[in-house]
Amino acid sequence: MSPNGARPARAHASVDNLRTYLLAAARRAPDRPAVIQAAADGGLETVTYGELERRVDACVEGLGALGLEVGDRVILESDTNADAVATLLACATLGLPFVPTSPEVPDERLLTIIDSAEPALYLQSAHGKRTGIPESVGTARFGPEGLTVERQPLPRVRRRRVVTPLDTAYITFTSGTTGRPKGVVMSHRGVIAFLRGAEAAELITSEDRVAGTSPLQFDFALFDIGLALGHGATLVPVPRDRLNWPRRFLSYLRDTGATQVDSVPSVWRPVLQHEPDMLAEMGQEGILRRIAFSGENFPLEELRRLQELLPKAHFTNGYGATETMAASITEVPNPLPAETERLSIGYAVAGAEMLLVGPDGGPVDEPGVLGEIYLRSPSLFSGYWNDPEATRAVVVPDPLNPRSGQLVFKTGDLASMGQEGELYFHGRADSQVQIRGNRVELGEVERRIGQFDGITGAVAMILPRPDGDPLLHAFVTCAPDGPAPDAKAVVAFCRAALPAYMVPQGVRVVDVFPLTVNGKVDRAALAAHVAS
Ligand code: ADP
Repeated sequence: MSPNGARPARAHASVDNLRTYLLAAARRAPDRPAVIQAAADGGLETVTYGELERRVDACVEGLGALGLEVGDRVILESDTNADAVATLLACATLGLPFVPTSPEVPDERLLTIIDSAEPALYLQSAHGKRTGIPESVGTARFGPEGLTVERQPLPRVRRRRVVTPLDTAYITFTSGTTGRPKGVVMSHRGVIAFLRGAEAAELITSEDRVAGTSPLQFDFALFDIGLALGHGATLVPVPRDRLNWPRRFLSYLRDTGATQVDSVPSVWRPVLQHEPDMLAEMGQEGILRRIAFSGENFPLEELRRLQELLPKAHFTNGYGATETMAASITEVPNPLPAETERLSIGYAVAGAEMLLVGPDGGPVDEPGVLGEIYLRSPSLFSGYWNDPEATRAVVVPDPLNPRSGQLVFKTGDLASMGQEGELYFHGRADSQVQIRGNRVELGEVERRIGQFDGITGAVAMILPRPDGDPLLHAFVTCAPDGPAPDAKAVVAFCRAALPAYMVPQGVRVVDVFPLTVNGKVDRAALAAHVAS
């Protein structure tokens, strides 16, 4: 209360706020390293928890002076680094949802996001080069000393005084199947519930250094930040230019003393191709203790190869979607048993539950039977930004107890159960296609092709044809030192095990699969490849 009894004008953060949770170590151990990052002079810079908190407060001061209302969106464009982390935690402190994006995002896409999110403010670093932000949006630059405002945001009406755990922490825009960006709205309560659940997986301790490889606009980057800082450990953001060069990537891991690498599987492909010896050396040194991958299936042949080079490391398969941050974190045996044909996605993280639902809407509890994964989780997103219809399609009544009012997340992912109740991922429900009236799981076709000698990766898809039945087509990659597989032999190999309608009519060998910006296989680009 101020002396004249008026209510305080500034919003205050509640206990369950991303800032409070991620800066707990600033109280306990202010001198511990929070972030180790590339410095401008080519060396490394360590930012301690105490220093990180100081930067957060400097930014809170600058943001607080702008008169924004709890819930006003702030676009945060940056590579992952200490200042970006400080800025997003400052937004969290004041209840300003941040919308992370990165400098690689094309202008046009950023403008679509601005159009949809209607932010009050756009932030970039002192070196940021973005121009052309619409007049209706305030602009400022962030740095170690806080904000430099370039254009004041429009005046706001302020009604809110308290930041609650239900308030939005961030909105990440995913590409969505329609190509229209879909904003996944995540509350403080949701993201913290997930991070607390993930703590039980005991992936890291405060001694670990977690190398993050994902651009800031994907929630995978927020997972890296949350995992590292939530444990009082150290975040090691890998600069994008290092990631593209296997030798420079590995040297960076070595120089920073990274103990864990979090990435999509494709990050390892060029390393396996070009720098296996250097990685094997690092494997012997034993500093790299864990490889955590997530986002898509790790092709088994590549995973086995990686394990051979890192025999002492632990491997972890993270499964889930942005809508709940993730769902499960599962230890992968190293080495994988020879008979393993499919990686386990295990059980949901502590406090959440994965349920398999059959086509009749009832639960599947028999091993080996395919069902869709529904997730019961305290980290359920609040909804898609400004899209209640899309939200209603995936946030649905609990199929086991529809009268309870409880809502669960319909993932759109297919899985089967193992003998112990663990789950195995079988692909997206929407990649279940009809071919001549038969239901085909593209993942099954890919799995068979992947067993062909010398093939390292396979992607199957349906290609529409203007004049006739759609075509089942496959793209494959093979080992760089091996012979290119003969397309006819691959087709014959499929015919030996699959019904005729599941046999690809065309097989094309490609050097590498095109990737989306977050490193997953870009199916649309592959399809365009055939059309061209
Ligand atoms: P994220 O950015 O967290 O990867 P997306 O929302 O972009 O999430 O994509 C989520 C989808 O990616 C899941 O629904 C699933 O189909 C796929 N996926 C995620 N993790 C895995 C995994 N470990 N194995 C196989 N597929 C996965």
